[in-house]
Amino acid sequence: MASAETIEIARGIPPGFVLACAMVFGAFVGSFTNVVAWRLPRQCLSINNPRRSFCPRCKTQLAWYDNIPVLGWIFLLGRCRYCRKAISPRYPLVEAAMAALFGLAVWRTVLSGGPEALVSVEAWLFALAAVAAISVLMPVALIDWDLTIIPDELAVGPLLFFVPMAASVTPMRAGLPPDLDPLLFHALPLWLNGVFSALVAGAAGSLTLWLIGKAGNVLFPGRTAKMGGESMGFGDVKLVFLLGVILGWPKLLAAFFIAIMLGASVGLVLRVAARFLAVPFGPFLVAGTLAALLFTPEILQAVDWYIALITPAGVPPARLGS
Ligand SMILES: [Zn+2]
Repeated sequence: MASAETIEIARGIPPGFVLACAMVFGAFVGSFTNVVAWRLPRQCLSINNPRRSFCPRCKTQLAWYDNIPVLGWIFLLGRCRYCRKAISPRYPLVEAAMAALFGLAVWRTVLSGGPEALVSVEAWLFALAAVAAISVLMPVALIDWDLTIIPDELAVGPLLFFVPMAASVTPMRAGLPPDLDPLLFHALPLWLNGVFSALVAGAAGSLTLWLIGKAGNVLFPGRTAKMGGESMGFGDVKLVFLLGVILGWPKLLAAFFIAIMLGASVGLVLRVAARFLAVPFGPFLVAGTLAALLFTPEILQAVDWYIALITPAGVPPARLGS
């Protein structure tokens, strides 16, 4: 609990300033995200060497001012300064998306709670968990979309951060009503309960996706053969373990549901319109996870609304929230 004096100081900090800082930071992380998404899956390139970005065609090293997120691309009108080759608009779009996501994360976890939250360690821990999740998952989505692979550096490595993070149980509990408790082992101390509950959520999610994949192999042998013998990549199975650790079971369930709905509808459109054979599932898992993380209250409201909708007249609907 912060003292009245610290809260008074926090009252003097304009929320817009904190939001702007979060968004600028997000834009720079977005710039790094583009580097990771391009270099990590290409074994011959290292993340920090060359230190500066270079044009993929003329190999000229870019000046620092060409590297300013979003603005650099706009000033160059989307072309390399040296060889005039078009630079993909995906670069500034990823940077803008990261700025928006960082802003949303800090807004949801800290700024919406007022001056008390601005000086609360718990609120900032939740912000850190959300921002870290966004930073890890955005390159996962991009790399899986481009190459249908999910590197272990992004699916397994971040467990070193997120498993200890689960000891602070606020991120897992945030926004959930008490009857949707993500913690499973109440006989244990709170921090150990958090860690074990996160691991169980991850393991249950992975096992479920693995079983779905095995069922897919049996049910759709023709398509499975075209996809190289497995209908579900093992990269997705590993990724879901990480997502379960980040989210806890109730939010993982919501993320799964959103991923399947999105994947089915977008996948269908792509298969018809662009004749994509295999649409990777990773980007949809990432979208579902970010939605479950940043829109927990809205998702609960939607579930409540749906339960009320399908409940026959005269029966009191089971409520999730409230
Ligand atoms: Zn060039």
